[in-house]
Amino acid sequence: MKTDVVIVGAGPTGLSLACQLVRYGVDFIIFDKSESTTPHSKAIGVQARTLEIYEQIGLADKLIEQGAIAGKVRMVVGGKVRSEVDFGEIGKGMSPYPFVLIVEQGKHEKILYDFIKANGKDVLWNTELESFTQDESSATANIKTDNGETETIEAKFLVGCDGAKSPVRRTLGLTFEGSTFERMYYVADVQIDWKFSHDAGHGFLLKNSMLAFFPMTGENQWRIVGTFPEEFAKDEGDILYEEIEEQIRQDAELDLDITNVNWFSTYKVHTRSVNKFSVGRCFLAGDSAHIHTPAGAQGMNTGIQDGYNLAWKIAMALQGNADAKILETYNDERLENAKNLLETTDRMFELAVSPKLFISYLRTHIFPYIARFAISIDAVKKFAFPRVSQIGINYRHSSLSVHTGDKNFRIKAGDRMPYFLVDGKSIYDKLHQPKFHLLIFQDGQNDRKAMDGEIQMEFADLVDSAIVQLDPQVAEIFGTANPFNVLLRPDNYIGAISSDASLGPMKNYLERYL
Ligand SMILES: Cc1cc2nc3c(=O)[nH]c(=O)nc-3n(C[C@H](O)[C@H](O)[C@H](O)COP(=O)(O)OP(=O)(O)OC[C@H]3O[C@@H](n4cnc5c(N)ncnc54)[C@H](O)[C@@H]3O)c2cc1C
Repeated sequence: MKTDVVIVGAGPTGLSLACQLVRYGVDFIIFDKSESTTPHSKAIGVQARTLEIYEQIGLADKLIEQGAIAGKVRMVVGGKVRSEVDFGEIGKGMSPYPFVLIVEQGKHEKILYDFIKANGKDVLWNTELESFTQDESSATANIKTDNGETETIEAKFLVGCDGAKSPVRRTLGLTFEGSTFERMYYVADVQIDWKFSHDAGHGFLLKNSMLAFFPMTGENQWRIVGTFPEEFAKDEGDILYEEIEEQIRQDAELDLDITNVNWFSTYKVHTRSVNKFSVGRCFLAGDSAHIHTPAGAQGMNTGIQDGYNLAWKIAMALQGNADAKILETYNDERLENAKNLLETTDRMFELAVSPKLFISYLRTHIFPYIARFAISIDAVKKFAFPRVSQIGINYRHSSLSVHTGDKNFRIKAGDRMPYFLVDGKSIYDKLHQPKFHLLIFQDGQNDRKAMDGEIQMEFADLVDSAIVQLDPQVAEIFGTANPFNVLLRPDNYIGAISSDASLGPMKNYLERYL
């Protein structure tokens, strides 16, 4: 078989990368050793940035229909609610999706898979990577198909979306350094009859372990996540749910009628990252490149962002619109992000589970009282939401971010295009095309229509352009009331921003990279 891109693994990372390649009209083959998308709930927290990405291919609303917005969390100590925090609209004004969406990974993967099939492609299920090689012009995967035969797939690029144990990473000889937490964790999807309502997550603030209940779709359906007591030294997979149920009751200090255990799994928490996201024509994305603590629901969302970052660069290189060197920026941008992510999730996790006396006191006695108050403060929302929702990720250090014109702006090259409304409609409505976007911001005194025509004359195939009225809200966000232009990469990060009266800086950018 021959193709342009071969994707190893059809978890959320591989499937979402495939959706992006469909969008760019890139030919690919995706295969997975499993027989179908996951039947399990696994990752339930979907972040705003993921929904912004899905909006471009018409999948955000579909996912929202299948899930529920995480609205409140109750902090419980000694079986009693010590505090209730409402964060349903914590990101209001910062994203069209100002919340965390709760939807099971199984349903999520199915939506991505259906999109691929609706576009005439499919996943080769029950198909396992046995080995692969690469040379200067191609990468060749040797696979074992569902009927036991060995075949080869020759592609221009290979992407390993094959999870934490990644055979692709091992073959490439990349390191996966970091650490593993000693304590064993469990996750159980169950039905519970108890005194608390189904409209909030419940965090049980314990001195030296962790227990949390998250509401899932379906009547009385809950996800329980917790730590085993320290004396549990069994290996992952050896433990039965029944062995932990009594511990759950003791930790919750509540009367719980737990029935219908739909899924139970145990795991160790690791925090690790590769030293490089690519070698030659082969790339890694998702858990194959980074794994971290479950704090903040970041893992799957980060894998989806990896694919989003890589897809347009592969498309540009394959279609001859950019030099293959552009692919090096994938490693630069996503490795920096993975390192930052490991640090933040480790810190959040420490606060949630550490048995250290000071942190444990902070968690049980101080945090519940300040959290409710803190979340109502605008500055706290503006600090917390961009970090958790992943809308705050930026590529300011990337070679694709040209800073020459951005000195007097609050928003810099490398930042995600900020969200705001224009004539009551989301600015993102103008950014759905799989192209670069030139946004020409004009005030009442200047007519910049000629610029629109000029860019279309020269770059119509690669650049989409729009004129936007520079109203006071936009001026406040960007930090200038004078007309300016913004050039966005196809993933809607700012490549260049300039108040120059000509299109010179924007054309320079396009000529330099395309
Ligand atoms: C209990 C739990 C809760 C979580 N909660 C969240 C959350 O709320 N939010 C969040 O963002 N993340 C969460 N995560 C993390 C999230 O599930 C992972 O980050 C995500 O599944 C990674 O996706 P992936 O596609 O990179 O890897 P995987 O999902 O591991 O998929 C890899 C795929 O590659 C296939 N594969 C492997 N080897 C081969 C081979 N040799 N040949 C062919 N195919 C192969 C596998 O069969 C698999 O389908 C959670 C994880 C767990 C376990």
